[in-house]
Amino acid sequence: MSKNTYIVGFPRIGEQRELKFALENFWAKKSDFTEVQKVAKELKQKHWDYQKNAGIEHISTNDFSLYDNMLDMAVTLNAVPKRFADLKDEELYFAMARGNKEAVAMEMTKWFNTNYHYIVPELSLQDNYSLDAKKIIAEYKEAQEHGLTCKINVIGPITFLGLSKRVDGGDTYELYSKVLAVYEELLQELAKLDDTVTVQIDEPIFAKDLDTKVLSLIKPTYDKLSNVSSNIKIAVVSYFENSCEATKILVNTPVWALGLDFLYGEENFDSLALIANSNKTLIAGVVDGRNIWKNDIEKTIHLLDKIALHVNKENILISSSCSLLHVPFSLKYEEKMNHEIKNWLSYGIEKLNEIALVSKLFFHGKSSLNENEITALEKNTAANSSRKTSKLIHDENVQNRVKNITKLQRNGNYEERIKIQKEKLQYLPLATTTIGSFPQTPEVRHARREYKNGNLDKLSYENEMKKYIDDCVAFQEECGLEILVHGEPERNDMVEYFGEQLNGYGFSQNGWVQSYGSRCVKPPFIYGDISRPKPMTVDWTTYAQSKTKKIMKGMLTGPVTILNWSFVRDDMPRSEVSKQIALGICDEVDDLQKAGIKMIQVDEAAFKEGYPLRKTKVQEYEDWAVRDFKLAVSSARKETQIHTHMCYSEFNDIIATIEAMDADVISIETARSGNELLKIFAKVGYKQEVGPGVYDIHSPRIPSVEEIVTQIYSLLEVLPKEQLWINPDCGLKTRKYEEVKPSLRNMVKAVQIVRNEV
Ligand code: GLN
Ligand code: ZN
Repeated sequence: MSKNTYIVGFPRIGEQRELKFALENFWAKKSDFTEVQKVAKELKQKHWDYQKNAGIEHISTNDFSLYDNMLDMAVTLNAVPKRFADLKDEELYFAMARGNKEAVAMEMTKWFNTNYHYIVPELSLQDNYSLDAKKIIAEYKEAQEHGLTCKINVIGPITFLGLSKRVDGGDTYELYSKVLAVYEELLQELAKLDDTVTVQIDEPIFAKDLDTKVLSLIKPTYDKLSNVSSNIKIAVVSYFENSCEATKILVNTPVWALGLDFLYGEENFDSLALIANSNKTLIAGVVDGRNIWKNDIEKTIHLLDKIALHVNKENILISSSCSLLHVPFSLKYEEKMNHEIKNWLSYGIEKLNEIALVSKLFFHGKSSLNENEITALEKNTAANSSRKTSKLIHDENVQNRVKNITKLQRNGNYEERIKIQKEKLQYLPLATTTIGSFPQTPEVRHARREYKNGNLDKLSYENEMKKYIDDCVAFQEECGLEILVHGEPERNDMVEYFGEQLNGYGFSQNGWVQSYGSRCVKPPFIYGDISRPKPMTVDWTTYAQSKTKKIMKGMLTGPVTILNWSFVRDDMPRSEVSKQIALGICDEVDDLQKAGIKMIQVDEAAFKEGYPLRKTKVQEYEDWAVRDFKLAVSSARKETQIHTHMCYSEFNDIIATIEAMDADVISIETARSGNELLKIFAKVGYKQEVGPGVYDIHSPRIPSVEEIVTQIYSLLEVLPKEQLWINPDCGLKTRKYEEVKPSLRNMVKAVQIVRNEV
């Protein structure tokens, strides 16, 4: 065992997504719950073994979950919403997560700035919380039976409250005393499990800007929890950013250790003197838990040496920067990947070995390494130096082009452009359109898959897609939509589709990362300089345009979204990578307009997701994100109308930034909130045109004409008709044609009714 090694948490879905399949079979009633339990048990043991065999000293229990750890914590506190009161055990648990016939599921939202989603606990003043530690204790005992003494991971009370919502309105922190009492009880129970029990309390909320009220809870909380029992050792762990304010307070509590992220929170270095003085153990997050690059071991040792200038070496544990939940499992299944590229990567299992090697090197020096370890170190050095020079990564043409950008934005200001556009494009007020995708039919998915696997030739594949486009265009014409789209049948995903056609992008075979529940995503990764060898969408778009006299809107994904939904190279600032992508999109915009396309939508669905956790860093992000959106459309002529789309409704904090992006038209997601969220646009005197979604596409429900009429009228209370477009909330790809057709017909009818009246 390499002493002083620590893993914050381990992925649980399984290297072949075993847990996913077990859960989905159970949900589909193809198996019973004992099967899920069996798979879960096997996975836990396997995952413990991986960590043990890699020599990791501090391994977790209760990082496992059948759905989500926040949900688990809600169950531990018996914080069960009333609508589920009649249920128990797994039926209750999965109903809270996924809803059932009688009750809607609890809300789900993004875990900080990752693509993992947690279940949002619902709290209310009337609740009475009580302890249910069954799961936590059982898992600890399972590990014991497996011959391991593990730490126990729990989500901390301050983070739990901070991420929950009050169903009765008001502040979740009003429930602080009630909730903390149950945490104390929990620790009392855990203290009985062993002579010493280590509890990792995750408080990632400490990595955000906290108000004084929340900060004032930290000391009493951790004084109390530390005093529950002398058997308990508490490690308070945060990640994704610095948590300097909390650290200042925690060093004055009796907790045993602090876990800090030194990769995404460099400011944590400023806390080292305090930690040293308090003589606390430092869990040093130095191996990236949320990206897939091989650790640069030399660099990491250097970083640890810097830490050791303050903190006693004996007090340092070498750790992943966060739970490995956010990276894929193991490289061993990547059989098709280019070997040179694969050699630069490291997934979860590989990171375990890195941590072990770093620890040996740091604590015992090079002379302590055995032959295998020496080889591993040499390979690591070689891989990292090959990344610095490889032709696959470094493309002089791209770098020169980036250096010599002269045109940063399109010609003409908005007022001038929109006048020309309205004249040339002749669309009416309340113009109708859609967000881009139409339902992905089984036939289309099948054809794409067969083509990819080499079972369908190019021509037949293209004919399939064209058939889809023909039908899609014909339907839009027939139902009376005004600005048409081709329907995106050729795209399985709005980022992957572009990634596949850009140089510098890589794809994995088995790089699954849990997104929520049983759902996993396989993000592409950017390893090198990005360039666009040839047009990516022009053929499909011009084909679709040839089928109609109406305006066909081109459909692209914007640079910021492409970046935010990929694993990004770590040898270059994100802002530089984004600039390279923007240049590729810029060429595509130009090719589309040259081919006669008059409106082009550049989706920035994930624009808001890239926001930093700390307010002090927001400006910098906004600056380059806006810069690169504008760069991506800088080739557009004045008369080419640029649309964008964002999957949000909450724009209050970012309205000025959205306006600065200077798209001629933005479509947004507002159907669920009436006209409430649109008001900010009016309030700030937003200039450009806006298409607030008039119905919710996330539900199979077909909206009636009357209901859409009402919705349009409520929008008209906020913005004039000349500034409004009418469209659904988001793309239609997850819906069925049976739902989409009547819904869009109703939308068009509703617009006709309103136009006749206003
Ligand atoms: N154009 C994309 C589509 O319609 C936009 C998707 C999205 O916003 N997530 O599918
Ligand atoms: Zn959307």
